[in-house]
Amino acid sequence: MTTSAETSETTLRGTPVVPGIAAGPVLHVRGEVSPDAIERFGDGDFADAGAALAAYDEAVGAVARTYTDKADAAQGAAAEVLTASAGLASDKGLRSAVAKNLESGQGVVTAVQGAVEQFVTIFTNMGGLMAERVADLRDIERRLVAHLVGEPAPGVPTPTEPSVLVAEDLAPSDTSGLDPDLVTALVTERGGATSHTAIIARQLGIPCVVGAAGVLSVPEGAFVVVDGEAGTIEQGADPEAARDRVDESRRLRAELAGWSGPAATSDGLPVKLLANVADGPSAESASEEPVQGVGLFRTELCFLNRRDEPSVEEQADIYAEVLAPYSDGRYVVVRTLDAGSDKPIAFATRSGEENPALGVRGLRLSYDNPGLMDRQLDAIALAAERTGTDTRVMAPMVATVTEAADFAGRVRDRGLKAGVMVEIPSAALLAHRMLQVVDFLSIGTNDLTQYAMAADRMATDLAHLTDPWQPAVLQLIAITAHAGTEAGKPVGVCGEAAADPLLATALIGMGISSLSMAARAVRPVGAQLGKVSLDTCEAAAEAALGAPDPMAGRAAVRELLGH
Ligand code: PEP
Ligand code: MG
Repeated sequence: MTTSAETSETTLRGTPVVPGIAAGPVLHVRGEVSPDAIERFGDGDFADAGAALAAYDEAVGAVARTYTDKADAAQGAAAEVLTASAGLASDKGLRSAVAKNLESGQGVVTAVQGAVEQFVTIFTNMGGLMAERVADLRDIERRLVAHLVGEPAPGVPTPTEPSVLVAEDLAPSDTSGLDPDLVTALVTERGGATSHTAIIARQLGIPCVVGAAGVLSVPEGAFVVVDGEAGTIEQGADPEAARDRVDESRRLRAELAGWSGPAATSDGLPVKLLANVADGPSAESASEEPVQGVGLFRTELCFLNRRDEPSVEEQADIYAEVLAPYSDGRYVVVRTLDAGSDKPIAFATRSGEENPALGVRGLRLSYDNPGLMDRQLDAIALAAERTGTDTRVMAPMVATVTEAADFAGRVRDRGLKAGVMVEIPSAALLAHRMLQVVDFLSIGTNDLTQYAMAADRMATDLAHLTDPWQPAVLQLIAITAHAGTEAGKPVGVCGEAAADPLLATALIGMGISSLSMAARAVRPVGAQLGKVSLDTCEAAAEAALGAPDPMAGRAAVRELLGH
């Protein structure tokens, strides 16, 4: 491994996901229930399988309640994942598997462990988002077993002083409700840039490094300095000197949070900053941020729990809720359904594909079901007309110029501007020809990275490859941006890469005209861009493109920016 290996006796490296410097003693997350307690409990001495199942039901009730209590105290993405965990703990299929194991004479702890193992295998084989939920299943298992044997719930111990939390990977129940005054940074040995840990750390504004090999061996209580921009965990630093760095970083972060737009480089090149949204409420709250609109409305996220396709009318109502807050002259880019792979939608996704990430997902679903896309476009056009919002439409997973031309025709027939996402290397390589048939391009760096590097974006062991700083990925972005400049048409970035203030400078230097990101990331990105000239952005682009690997790219750009 190049990026996550130990580089010196005292510094470990991982993938930086939330910038900022923090320091403190290491606090390990208690992962497992004590084996002694499990042995003492044995088979629990239940009268029969029915009594053991009743104890299981009681444990499920208690564990589900813990999740819902935490969900009530949390907000946004954290609340959603905790509610989902409460549902998973009470799952009927899981209960049936436990009951079957009990009937066959197993003790209740073994029955729970076996049933969870069965589900872990199923989820892992499904891949994508379902595989991501394995960490949640393991968390449920630990909590159920702890409750059954009468041990305290495993997870995050309450820090007695500001500490750096270190874990193999974190479940949502671990990270929700964390007090940022007591947990100053998160570091995990596994997990990638899109893991729950990363999402929640970003929401809390806590510096975070994931995929840091070797961090679990750092002893509890050892003083470490975590740099969430450089991706380093330093051991043995002088606490006094570290305090100055931490204070300076805090001051800088407070300054970034106060940035209020509009975005431009220090020498006046305007940059459009946009929000990624999932539904009406997220669109509404993002509209309060200094954004010029929405660069990515992921429509499929509105339908994750729907069995049947909503009618055109119902869809129009949902889309209008997202468009309405931007009827003040701002614009919204609506993406047509990106169902399939990690986002299974009951009424659209094919089942039983061998390799769903390379299968019939996104635009490809319209090959044998064009009505699905046409009805969605009708609904988008209706919502645009009702709200009066400047509405543009783009398709995900476009591989060929013919697909782009066909899609653009359907969108323009409805009086709207048409674009396509660049998520497949073929689309980047042919960007100049794509731009002959569409009005704009939007680069989805999450999938572009996955497909350029042949590395599953959810794979927790491949964080060093699923990194948009990979020079090959940057090269594809540069080709696409250059095509936009030549054609005089906008080319934006709407993947996670846009939320990285450091990388944003390089993207602007390549000629990218807009950056769309989680609303929370907008201010730090805007503030960073305001500090650099276009020349520096161009130098940052050159440095990142010419670097041998992501870590070297980050280091070169940080040096250029004087970080
Ligand atoms: C992307 O692939 O970068 C993207 C923005 O789409 P999604 O993350 O929804 O696949
Ligand atoms: Mg994508």
